[in-house]
Amino acid sequence: MLIYNSLTRKKEPFVPVEPGKVKIYACGPTVYNFFHIGNARPFILFDVLRRYLETRGYDVTFVQNFTDIDDKMINRAREEGITVKELADRFIAEYFVDAGALGIRPATVHPKATEHIPQIIGLIQKLIDNGLAYAVDGDVYYRVRAFDRYGCLCGQNLEDLASGARVSADERKEDPLDFALWKAHKPGEPAWESPWGKGRPGWHIECSAMSMTYLGDTFDIHGGGKDLLFPHHENEIAQSEGATGKPYVRYWMHNGFLNIDNEKMSKSAGNFFTVRDIAREFDLEAVRMFMLSAHYRSPVNFSRELIAQAASSLERLYGARDHLAFLAVSALDRAPDEAERAFMAEADRAQEKFNAAMDDDLNTADALAALFELVREVFRLPQDGVSREAVACGQEKMLAMTGVLGLLMKQTDEVTPEVNAMVRERALARQNKDWKRSDELRDAIKAAGYILEDTPAGQKVRRSV
Ligand code: AMP
Ligand code: ZN
Repeated sequence: MLIYNSLTRKKEPFVPVEPGKVKIYACGPTVYNFFHIGNARPFILFDVLRRYLETRGYDVTFVQNFTDIDDKMINRAREEGITVKELADRFIAEYFVDAGALGIRPATVHPKATEHIPQIIGLIQKLIDNGLAYAVDGDVYYRVRAFDRYGCLCGQNLEDLASGARVSADERKEDPLDFALWKAHKPGEPAWESPWGKGRPGWHIECSAMSMTYLGDTFDIHGGGKDLLFPHHENEIAQSEGATGKPYVRYWMHNGFLNIDNEKMSKSAGNFFTVRDIAREFDLEAVRMFMLSAHYRSPVNFSRELIAQAASSLERLYGARDHLAFLAVSALDRAPDEAERAFMAEADRAQEKFNAAMDDDLNTADALAALFELVREVFRLPQDGVSREAVACGQEKMLAMTGVLGLLMKQTDEVTPEVNAMVRERALARQNKDWKRSDELRDAIKAAGYILEDTPAGQKVRRSV
């Protein structure tokens, strides 16, 4: 598998540190609000990456943090008249509601910054001992010029960075590039005891501390949105490698922005829709499909039309699954005929194309195209009496591909054998243009508690609510 590594700026073959195991860390949300659909992009990306690596046989440990202490958390809690912890608890619970509806599985671990203060303090102390950090009046800063690889991720040297840096109003820093590792306590803010006095951690140090706690000093994949590349991830490298002297991360992955009117969607700019807002208009599975329709590194413009299109593609996908389930009822235990063997060969080809696309830096757009080639072939199967082996092959391939993408997660209703028999009989009646019998069967199916729809892919049955 090839992964585009932001560190080397090229696609590289993926080789994990430890054979058979993959360790991934993704920067998670700051939990002061519902997350917006721009944030959903990295969450979906790393969920798909994890699912794909698992189907490739890797044992994946996936860590995604919650930033539960920072200025935004403190300000919001103050506005709402609640504690920072109450605010965090509320939006962490809401994260799981929205993530679940987007088909994003919970990570192996979801560490919170406030529960890793000892690890954070230990890491800062190591940096001070190594001459890479200094304390001033209860704050601790990272001494950027003392770490010679600074700028390796963003590809800029210190002089470029220094001229780009805002002139710091803070006279206590040795250099404007230096960044805070620990912030001295201010009245009314949550604080923890430390060797430098009471205070709280800076944002960057939490990710270094939590990733290394769960994944070790050197691990495989780290990522988030492009906006995190500098300074957040650059600072993480400086902190982690400065403390351990070992390489921190092998592959850095960054997703492109979800834009709105060609501007990055962001909470601070106020041009955002939360996932919760969008859920009132669309099935969130369609939002997932919309995200997967573009390569993760490309920018994507938020568009209701494209989400609506994704919703109809999704419906076609469910239609193909239902169609196969319907065919399975009347499938015959006989060897596949020539047409069915051709179908099975097409299904294999679609699966190969799918894997090739995913192997090429997780090209979900091409992977979806391969899946829809299979869908097209599924709808070409005859309505009745298909060989069981052919149907099973179609089902297996579809399940494999949609499982990786995290699609088709909704179960369709179990249809009883009696209702299934009526549906099959009705298909025959319609073929014979026996409309009277067809209507009688529709009524009988309805009386049994099911709703029947005639679709271009054949009949669809679901339990009435
Ligand atoms: P935040 O809660 O702002 O720290 O963001 C959580 C994740 O969402 C990070 O990986 C960000 O890089 C990512 N992110 C934020 N805005 C966008 C956007 N408009 N498009 C894509 N990713 C984003
Ligand atoms: Zn982070």
